Amino acid sequence: MSEFRPAARPPIPSPASPESPGWGLFDRLDALPPLAAEERQILDSVRALARNQIAPRAEHYDRSAEFPWDNVHAINALGLNPMFVPEAYGGAGLSYAAYLACVRELSRACASTGIIWATNFHAMKPLIDFGTEEQKRRFLPRVAEGALAALAITESGAGSDATRMTTRFTPEGDNIVVSGGKTFITSGDVADLILVFGKWGGIADDRRAISALILEAGTPGLKVLRKEDKMGHRASSTAALAFENCSVPRANLLGVPGAGLPLLLAALNKSRPSVAAHALGIARAAFEDAVLYINERRQSGRRIIEFQGIQFLLADLATDLALCEAWLWHVARLVDSGAGDFAVEASMLKMRASDLAMRIATEAVQLHGGYGYCKDYRVERLMRDAKITQIWEGTNQIHRQLIGRSFIGKR
Ligand SMILES: Cc1cc2nc3c(=O)[nH]c(=O)nc-3n(C[C@H](O)[C@H](O)[C@H](O)COP(=O)(O)OP(=O)(O)OC[C@H]3O[C@@H](n4cnc5c(N)ncnc54)[C@H](O)[C@@H]3O)c2cc1C
Repeated sequence: MSEFRPAARPPIPSPASPESPGWGLFDRLDALPPLAAEERQILDSVRALARNQIAPRAEHYDRSAEFPWDNVHAINALGLNPMFVPEAYGGAGLSYAAYLACVRELSRACASTGIIWATNFHAMKPLIDFGTEEQKRRFLPRVAEGALAALAITESGAGSDATRMTTRFTPEGDNIVVSGGKTFITSGDVADLILVFGKWGGIADDRRAISALILEAGTPGLKVLRKEDKMGHRASSTAALAFENCSVPRANLLGVPGAGLPLLLAALNKSRPSVAAHALGIARAAFEDAVLYINERRQSGRRIIEFQGIQFLLADLATDLALCEAWLWHVARLVDSGAGDFAVEASMLKMRASDLAMRIATEAVQLHGGYGYCKDYRVERLMRDAKITQIWEGTNQIHRQLIGRSFIGKR
């Protein structure tokens, strides 16, 4: 009796490289952000790092769910952390467009690594924009040298409505006592610095009580309660934290007591385009894998890409991806030009980029047929990684509400 041997699997396409032909449309889009020569060079180095080191390790980190320390160290070795820190505090002070382009490249290679790096920016941007000179001199050089940061807003009873948070800040002499807890905090267990939002004791109004301070790792009473076992982004840690009467110097308070809500909203406006860039990295990877695969895979005597129904699908995905990437650079330009009010544009970008990442990743799995459902092919991971982008930084329902609401009363 002859032994049954499964037929060879279709080859796993190597990720598209800059040398691959046929990506002209996207190459032109990549040239769109107005980056300085030095920023283009940095972006080239990030692309090389992402392609040669981070992408090859992504599958291992997804399977093992280990924190990708060697990726973090490689990013630091490249000198990437200082890029969003102003020069006066040991950084390079590069443009927001350059920062977004780097987030996208890292996330295209490994979404977990991309979000770990981006979270440093999300947590530290409020300090850069609203901190005192003394606070910036104390904390920012550490970030430029590679310290990890976390942003702690969400609580078990306060998700989409952050104003329901119950973490308390109680003044006590030169210190503030922090009590309460946070949930789902990216890098919460490994961060050196945590930007914590809570309510100032004694202010009754929910919105006017919100305040923000920097809590350092090692503060007595700071506890990691658990790490989540997640569908995707398995190498990025997501922690529940408890603050058991953590005593923090009052000098770590950002702004005045109760100044936290405007600060939080301003911070989210800068972090939402960043999570959109991250989602677009996942979308681009899924799109490229799908195109490469259907150019090779044959059924009924033809390559899959030769079926007209598939071409129609591809046309829709490519068009939406191109338009969304163009919007990313539009928002980047708004921020770099110092525009004050771009909250609606940022919401549109976050919502559309993340919905698109999920749609393209799902279609990429579909276009791989049964193989797409198996872990040997990267699209399986991309689909799991894409899902959270629709949930974090404001769920897409909340963004639809924010965008729609902005038109109330227009005449
Ligand atoms: C992997 C991961 C990483 C995260 N990282 C961080 C982090 O670093 N820092 C941080 O602070 N948080 C973080 N979060 C938390 C994340 O931002 C929240 O999960 C998110 O804001 C949604 O809150 P929730 O989970 O409590 O959902 P809920 O607010 O309970 O929402 C449940 C559902 O109801 C819908 N809903 C809620 N309100 C409305 C409404 N008004 N209208 C219509 N629909 C509504 C939501 O859209 C959602 O579909 C992370 C979460 C995850 C899973």
